[in-house]
Amino acid sequence: MALIVQKYGGTSVGSVERIQAVAQRVYKTVQAGNSLVVVVSAMGKTTDGLVKLATDISKTPCRREMDMLLSTGEQVTIALLSMALQELGQPAISLTGAQVGIVTEAAHTRARILHIETERMERHLQEGKVLVVAGFQGVSSADELEITTLGRGGSDTSAVALAAALGADFCEIYTDVPGILTTDPRLVPEAQLMAEITCDEMLELASLGAKVLHPRAVEIARNYGVPLVVRSSWTDAPGTWVTSVKPQGRSLVNLELARPVDDVQFDTNQAKIALLRVPDKPGVAARLFGEISHQDVDVDLIIQSIHEGNSNDIAFTVMTPILKKAEAVAAAIAPVLRSQSNPEPEEAEVMIQQEIAKVSISGAGMIGRPGIAAKMFATLAEAGINIQMISTSEVKVSCVVNAKDCDRAVAALRQTFEISTSPSLPQQNPAPSTPPVRGVALDMNQARLAIRQVSDRPGTAGKIFGLLAEHNVSVDMIIQSQRCHIIDGVPTRDIAFTVAKMDAEAAQQVLQSHATEYGWGEVVLDQAIAKVSIVGAGMVGQPGVAAKMFAALAENQINIQMIATSEIKISCVVNAEQGVKALQVIHTAFELAGTEKFVVPA
Ligand code: ADP
Ligand code: ASP
Ligand code: MG
Repeated sequence: MALIVQKYGGTSVGSVERIQAVAQRVYKTVQAGNSLVVVVSAMGKTTDGLVKLATDISKTPCRREMDMLLSTGEQVTIALLSMALQELGQPAISLTGAQVGIVTEAAHTRARILHIETERMERHLQEGKVLVVAGFQGVSSADELEITTLGRGGSDTSAVALAAALGADFCEIYTDVPGILTTDPRLVPEAQLMAEITCDEMLELASLGAKVLHPRAVEIARNYGVPLVVRSSWTDAPGTWVTSVKPQGRSLVNLELARPVDDVQFDTNQAKIALLRVPDKPGVAARLFGEISHQDVDVDLIIQSIHEGNSNDIAFTVMTPILKKAEAVAAAIAPVLRSQSNPEPEEAEVMIQQEIAKVSISGAGMIGRPGIAAKMFATLAEAGINIQMISTSEVKVSCVVNAKDCDRAVAALRQTFEISTSPSLPQQNPAPSTPPVRGVALDMNQARLAIRQVSDRPGTAGKIFGLLAEHNVSVDMIIQSQRCHIIDGVPTRDIAFTVAKMDAEAAQQVLQSHATEYGWGEVVLDQAIAKVSIVGAGMVGQPGVAAKMFAALAENQINIQMIATSEIKISCVVNAEQGVKALQVIHTAFELAGTEKFVVPA
């Protein structure tokens, strides 16, 4: 007999018939000898409807009242599902987040779970009842017992957190697609179902726009080793398993606020190559990385900064032993790129730097917590270490620094994030058969900010991202330009990054209002962008993956505005209008399409 947590999303409980179908599945699972906790979302598009009501009354509704309003959606479903189960003769009891004891921090509309009281649930389970729990909501631990919500899509997080707290055998997420597909089937009907995916890969995909799982749910599954499967609530097909390695005895106290950084890593065996002033038009990155991959050179970090005028900078790092080869390719291609960039007389230029090191912090707990990257930058600044390149993913921030600073950087970071020398989470090595690209995601909800003429001194990144963190703005894809402008004798660079669209204007205002104080220039906002990303643990050590992605975009005349990579993902920012097309051509380029077409239920 197993203890199972099942979660049913909005479409899966969208009507009386759907609720009855869910009751049937739950009933069958209990009849098979299992104990069951069922987490449900609000019916259909109820939550969207409630948001609309609120915004019809107020442009900026109070967050506390939003929680009061939005939490009602799930309360309807739990009562109806319990009734449907009782009709089948199955004892069941509905419980709100507060009744269960899902205790969260007080941050309205985006609360994190602190702990879950299990006594009441265990008692009801002992009595042979099915527990039907409202997803997406909790209660704050402060005296007032305020109702909180976890953020849109948060029912997945409720379910996995309950599974972790109860020590359930596994957690099943039932939804309107057959599992996790290579991309969103609404945009690419030929998307293919995967049998499994690692938590690390899914964390990236989820946070890069694959809505099928809430990233925080994946974070909890990874941190507590909860076996997790995503399945269709319409069929009995097995779905997709999200795999993780079970860590030893992680505390359930501060469940979502436990240590955000699990590990500090470094790599001194890297060299940096930058191509400055390459033309800003489709095909340049494709050509450069195409040539490089023909030489079998594997690149690690790639960043392309915002353009000034009509040229771009592209920088990348390679392992030191293959630097000479990569340098030769870059030097050979630079004049060709220059000759194409007329009428500008500017020259493309190759810049090599050998004495560098990459230091990284990693941990699923940094998702949605803007203060963590800022703390890393501040720690390096306090140690007087200048940051040359920054590359971010949802679960990792890497900085390229001077090689001589590496030891100090690592020691300072280990102290700040309280990391002993061995990582606290077991490593999940990809199986040899892992494909280079597992999935492709599109995020249309990002905007790009660029700060001009930021002084190139230790502490600058810390200031910028510290300011944003104070205002609770999460930053993604941070890119510093390679080119230096000397202004009043001070070297300056541009820094660009992406933020959620809804935070963009506030972020711009905050940064602009500190421009004089910190001495940076204009803060430029572009809302019309899309971010398209490929994710796969198998791309590590595989030359040519980036080249293939860039070539697919170039062949379709899609210009790349920014590039940022981490070990298991490559993201490109393109024009918003070309986002869907970019997703489709990349999906095709990596031959991810299947033979079947998916039709998502309405
Ligand atoms: P639920 O209401 O069940 O939580 P969601 O709408 O939150 O469902 O998530 C399911 C949707 O996620 C699918 O209908 C699909 O359009 C979208 N989606 C985006 N990317 C993917 C992907 N890679 N695999 C499967 N579904 C995806
Ligand atoms: N009902 C909430 C939402 O629509 C939570 C969820 O469905 O996961 O965001
Ligand atoms: Mg969802």
